[in-house]
Amino acid sequence: MRAPLAEDDKYSRGVVGLRTGSARYPGAAILGVEGAWRAGAGLVRYVGDSLPSALVLARRPETVLVEGRVGAWVIGSGTDAAARTPHEEQELRALLQESSPVVVDAGALDLAIGAASPVVVTPHAGEFARLGTLLGLSDEEDSWRRAAAAARELDATVLLKGAETVIADPAGGVRVVQSPTSWLAVAGTGDVLAGMIGTLIAANPEAPLADAAAAAAWLHGHAAAFAAGVEDAAPGHPIVALDVAEALPSIIARML
Ligand code: AMP
Ligand code: MG
Repeated sequence: MRAPLAEDDKYSRGVVGLRTGSARYPGAAILGVEGAWRAGAGLVRYVGDSLPSALVLARRPETVLVEGRVGAWVIGSGTDAAARTPHEEQELRALLQESSPVVVDAGALDLAIGAASPVVVTPHAGEFARLGTLLGLSDEEDSWRRAAAAARELDATVLLKGAETVIADPAGGVRVVQSPTSWLAVAGTGDVLAGMIGTLIAANPEAPLADAAAAAAWLHGHAAAFAAGVEDAAPGHPIVALDVAEALPSIIARML
């Protein structure tokens, strides 16, 4: 994370593209777009159905609804693999053969198998179990070993979400980011995180994907703690997912 320089422009600050949300889960589109903007992207593109597109634009008119070059894609949040049309699948598979890194969440996780793009998959425990079955992984090992095995098998970075988020890279590196608050366990926070990871990748194209993913998980947890008022041993209070995105500037300001 760095403050922008005089020679920066919106493109050098990171361009993120999201193909997320669906008619059934349109809110995931807003949450991911908001996470991407609030993590400091220079430009956020959104590509999706008319309902999520309209909601995204109403919430965040800065968002560009035209497809174009991006430094990273975010796909799958708020989508259901079972409801995917052949056309959507074809488009996502094509995107996963290109050179831009892709953050693959929720309903697109199965498509990470066989991807040629640099990929970060972001499953929660239930999604990880399904992915593990598809990959033929044994489920006897602990979450570190399972994440590492999945990363090796997929040749991708795996971010396995939970109270402890495990980040495993395909070369065998594993690290854990401990969430400072379990108020984070609420619908939609994973969608915000996916957008944030997209921004940190796009803004730091030289950084290993696992570094961007781990930094995003750290920021996400600390933004949640700030939003929930849990600092200084106070128990805090409930939050909603958008609160996490809205707290990001306060946490980023402390880091610069
Ligand atoms: P998702 O399930 O995709 O909505 O993502 C949930 C988010 O909440 C992830 O960032 C998890 O790491 C986080 N999370 C889930 N359960 C807990 C918990 N008990 N304590 C802290 N964070 C959690
Ligand atoms: Mg999720």
